[in-house]
Amino acid sequence: MEEGVMTNINAVMDPELTELVAGDLGVDIDFVQAETLEDKLLTAMDELEDDEASLKPRAPVVTFLGHVDHGKTSLIDKLIGIDVASGEDGGITQHIRAYQIENDGRPISFVDTPGHEAFTEMRARGAGVTDIVVLVVAADDGVMPQTEEAISHAKAADVPIIVALNKIDLPGVDPTRALQDLAANDLLPSEWGGEVEVVKTSATTGEGLEELLETILTVAELNEFKANPDRPAIGSCLESQQDADKGVVTKVLVQKGTLRVGDTVVCGEAYGKVKAMTDPLRPSRRLLEAGPSVPVNLTGLNRAPSAGEPLYVIDDIAAAREIADTRAHAERAEFLGSTGFQAATLENLFDRLDGVGDIQTLNLILRADVRGSIEALEKELTKLEHPEVRLRILQKSVGGVTEGDVLLADASEAVIIAFNVVPDDKARAKADQLGVEIRRYGIIYKVADDLKLALEGMLRPEQ
Ligand code: GDP
Repeated sequence: MEEGVMTNINAVMDPELTELVAGDLGVDIDFVQAETLEDKLLTAMDELEDDEASLKPRAPVVTFLGHVDHGKTSLIDKLIGIDVASGEDGGITQHIRAYQIENDGRPISFVDTPGHEAFTEMRARGAGVTDIVVLVVAADDGVMPQTEEAISHAKAADVPIIVALNKIDLPGVDPTRALQDLAANDLLPSEWGGEVEVVKTSATTGEGLEELLETILTVAELNEFKANPDRPAIGSCLESQQDADKGVVTKVLVQKGTLRVGDTVVCGEAYGKVKAMTDPLRPSRRLLEAGPSVPVNLTGLNRAPSAGEPLYVIDDIAAAREIADTRAHAERAEFLGSTGFQAATLENLFDRLDGVGDIQTLNLILRADVRGSIEALEKELTKLEHPEVRLRILQKSVGGVTEGDVLLADASEAVIIAFNVVPDDKARAKADQLGVEIRRYGIIYKVADDLKLALEGMLRPEQ
């Protein structure tokens, strides 16, 4: 308090002040990294090897992405058999929905994010919860800009894509153009000899929905999604909010192990004992336990964790509290710093490459004023070759740099090339916050030159 800080015996002091006071008192201080305990417990959990024999098949976790109004919400509503607008969940389409349904006794989990930005933001925070993306494309409209973005996001996540060619009931609709659009985006439909399953659907008549579910289950079987249900649970917070009656309600997708009522958990800056769990699809149905791929709404956390935070079961409540509280007090910047987080920039390209002899990838996101510029850029870039670094264009689109681009860049360690376009305010702010590099150009050969220099490890920071 002599230092001008309003504090008391229960307050947490920052390290500088602690050092100062300790110096005054002649006490030696040894700072122990908060992450030590966290490391010990959580890394151990992450690394807990699940041997092959312990792995059991689990439900695929499916996310729907697509251009606005192509029928994403209607399809999911129809599949889960509720009309969300008037159903139990009452008009919360802004939020992430997560439901598990069964088709012939075989479970499928849906995680419905409001848009591909949310999908990628979750991935950026380490919550790669999605196993399969269903790309919804309206047959009358074809592939639109947001469809292309969704394709990039799904590809960057490296998950199988199934296309739902929706609104097939519309009179006179000809799906050929949509199929051509898909093929032009590297999604060659299986009916044309490619590898992408395209299911013709109508959310209005229900046509093709059974086939869509079957296709999802077939893709799931091919991929053999498995997890060990017999271990302390790890999950992911999808969203969390303060409810006037129930306290903090957190939507969690269990990823490994089995979560049980009474378990002590830590999730981001929150901790607590799981008081109750309910099925998000039938809120009146209480669950005592939830295994891999099962979404639940749970109560018992002391505060609302952020979406994307991993949830861990820890049998020691004191440790859970300590981890959560330490995180709550730690500056996010400090946290990022201490975990060695480094955003991708062209200059640090070579610092980020590890290992010798491996082929490394430099991810790029291209934004340009017109489609012609993109084509010209791509042509230039294909001319660049390097024995150890491969250029990979994650996304290319016309228009200014958006927040979604920045999130994708952050999640994929990509650099954004903005050609004759500027980022909007939100994109700029997000890029500053995340340290994502947006390089602006107006001349094609300048882009190629800079990338060449970057590949040769000689690029100077942009002025
Ligand atoms: P979202 O923005 O992708 O979630 O699209 P919505 O599910 O909100 O659907 C947008 C509009 O298209 C709504 O008016 C729906 O009724 C309509 N719609 C969705 N699916 C179909 C379909 O299969 N056939 C027809 N005719 N209309 C559909």
